[in-house]
This record gives sequence, C-alpha cells and structure tokens, in this order.
Amino acid sequence: MDVPSIRDLDVSGKKVLCRFDFNVPIRDSVIEDDRRLKEALPTIQYLIGKDAKIIMMSHLGRPKGKRVEELSLAPIAKRLRELLGKEVKFVEEIVGQKVMRAIKSLGGGDLLLLENIRFHPGEETNDPLFAGELASLAQVYINDAFGTAHRKHASTYGVANLVKEKAAGFLMLREIESLSKLHEDPPLPFSLVLGGAKLKTKIPVIKDLAPHIDNLIIGGGMAFSFLYKKGIDIGNSLLDDSLLPNVESLFPIVRDNDVNLLLPLDVVITKEIKEGAESKVVPVENIPPGWKGVDIGPVTIKQFRRAIIESKTIFWNGPMGVFEIPPFDKGTIEIATSMGEATKKGSLTIAGGGDTDKAIENTKVELTHLSTGGGASLKFLSGEELPAISVLCKGV
Ligand code: AMP
Repeated sequence: MDVPSIRDLDVSGKKVLCRFDFNVPIRDSVIEDDRRLKEALPTIQYLIGKDAKIIMMSHLGRPKGKRVEELSLAPIAKRLRELLGKEVKFVEEIVGQKVMRAIKSLGGGDLLLLENIRFHPGEETNDPLFAGELASLAQVYINDAFGTAHRKHASTYGVANLVKEKAAGFLMLREIESLSKLHEDPPLPFSLVLGGAKLKTKIPVIKDLAPHIDNLIIGGGMAFSFLYKKGIDIGNSLLDDSLLPNVESLFPIVRDNDVNLLLPLDVVITKEIKEGAESKVVPVENIPPGWKGVDIGPVTIKQFRRAIIESKTIFWNGPMGVFEIPPFDKGTIEIATSMGEATKKGSLTIAGGGDTDKAIENTKVELTHLSTGGGASLKFLSGEELPAISVLCKGV
C-alpha cells in the first residue's frame, strides 16, 4: 500500500492538524503507561523541527459525545510537556472561538492540544459539519493514530476527506510497514498465535493468513470453541455458540493450506474465576462438569514454546488465559518470553492488542514490532480496508 508520508508534504510554518492515539490508561489524573505518547514523539518532533503550528487531537476512553471530567486530556498535555521539555497549550474545547484564538496565538514550532475529541457528539457519527469545522482549523492533516485507523470517525476519516494536503505520521507508517511484512513474503516457518476471548475479530485473520502460515497456535478462551468442535467436553469453559459454524469452516481451510493446528493439550481449570480460587491442571479431555479452563497447562506451554522459537515469523494477539488474575497469567507470560527468545534468534516477531501489550511490557521482552492497535492490526491482517488509511490515499 502506497500511503503518503509526512515527509512528502511541505509543512514548514503551516498549521498542521494531527490525529494521535493518546488513549492511555489514567487513574486519578496519573498516566499509568505513556507508551502511546512516546510513540507519537517522532512525528511531533519532526513538525517542531519544521516550525509547523501543531494542533493535536485525540480521543480518550468512551465519553459517548459528552464531557466527562475524568476523561479530559489535561493530564496528557502535562505529560507531553514533560516528555518534550516544551510548552504544550491546552484548550478545554474542540472547535469554536476559544480554539480559534488559541490557534491564532501559535508561533512556528508551538503545540496546542485540543480537548478529548469524543466529547463532541459529531465525532463517532462522523458528522459532516463537525468534520468541516475540524478541516477549517488547519492547512495540513496528519494521521498518526493507528489504533483508531479502523474507525470512520470525524477526526480519522471525515476531516481527511476534506483536506487536500494530508499524510500518515511516522508511527502510522511504521505500523503499516511492519504488519505488511506478514503478507509479503514473511520468512518461514510462520506461526500465528491467537488467544483471548473474542473469536469474531480473529476468524478473518486466520482465513486471510492461512495461505502464508505454517502453524496456527490457539490458546485462551477462544481455544475452547475449537476443542468443542473436535468433540471434547469442555465443562463450563468459554464457548461462543453463535460462531461455532465459522469455527467449523476453518478446519478445511487449515487442512487445505497444510497448516499445523496446535490446540491446548492440557489446561488449568477452576470452578470460579477469582483470585485464590482452587485450580488444577488436567488434560483437555478430562475437564470435569462445573469446571472451566482459564489458562494453558505446562505441556501446552512447552509445545507452543517450541513452535514459536523454531519459527522465523510470529504474530501474536490475545492472552493464553485469564491473565489479569495470577496464577492464570503463567501461559501468557511464557508465550511473551518465548516471543522474546525468538526475537533474540533473529526472527520477525510482531504482537498487537491491549492485553498482549501488557504481557509484553510486564515481561520486558523485546519484539521486532509491538503494535499500538489491537483491533486495527487484526483488521489490517484480515485484508480489510482501514478507512482512516485509505482516505489518506484519496484526492479531494
Ligand atoms: P480479547 O479481547 O479477545 O483478546 O480477550 C481478552 C480477554 O480474554 C482477557 O480479558 C482474558 O481474561 C480473556 N480470556 C483469556 N483466556 C480466557 C479463558 N480461558 N476463559 C475466559 N476468558 C479468557
């Protein structure tokens, strides 16, 4: 995909409206993880170096079109000031007089952060009037928010439809380049590792990547739908009834593409998903009634680990168990560690998704690329068009 780059535009001294993904976890006004802010710095610093007048926008959480005090971007402005060692002006509005005045006062290389874009009811509905108001704020539009590239919102799509000079920022470009490698001649063997609870977003990825992969490794809650379809009694484990026909349709695809399907051989089971609950390891065929699988067991970990470290390309999305509640995080930690080992051996290792991110950060392992967008990376790998990216390639 030939996506216009920020480098292709003349931004010098111009007003540049930038969409970032500053959707970071905040508790009591304190940012718990600022990785997404740090990832935006190359684009911000480039624009500062070009003396652009930088107008930044982002969403935070789901305020549903109205002001929600805890979701204000004020703490983000503060943290950006610290990271950049530079003043970052902040207005508690998104469009209107106050915003216009703040933009007027910007000099070359100055920064302004607008309030949470989702406080405006027109953002998620992609209201054309709101998109028009946003477009009128600047001459150039840059999108560096990969995490929301699958959303057709006013700040990601509507505004880009109206601005002629537009391009992707450095983070967006890096995400596209890294994920594209998985479709374009990835080094083999290639393992696709999936986990988590939601099957809906992962089935299309399996279908699209099936011709490229050697191993399909499935853990987490979604594995039980596969085990169930294989005739295994899964007790009270997670089961997505509505998608069982789709799961069934994957078996011939896996077979026809000579994909080696690795499902859990043993699992950690419990009666209740809570801290301190009684748990034990059993082979998947021996899950007693009333018990549910909450993590992959040691035999499975060993098998998954071997496949991962013997692969030259690995993409991972979704935890192997209910990793929020130790000790059910063991499988996920072990997979993260195996990904780190594979990176050290020179393999191409890519992971994406909120939960997968956390496991990677906690284990401090290095990957070739850790995507900032869970949903967006799955859609990208499913071969779906991401509206916020394709609109950058279209003329006005
Ligand atoms: P997803 O958004 O689809 O990646 O799902 C992530 C969620 O899956 C996490 O909150 C995990 O707790 C949950 N999860 C992983 N394994 C299981 C399991 N065996 N049973 C229930 N939930 C699970």
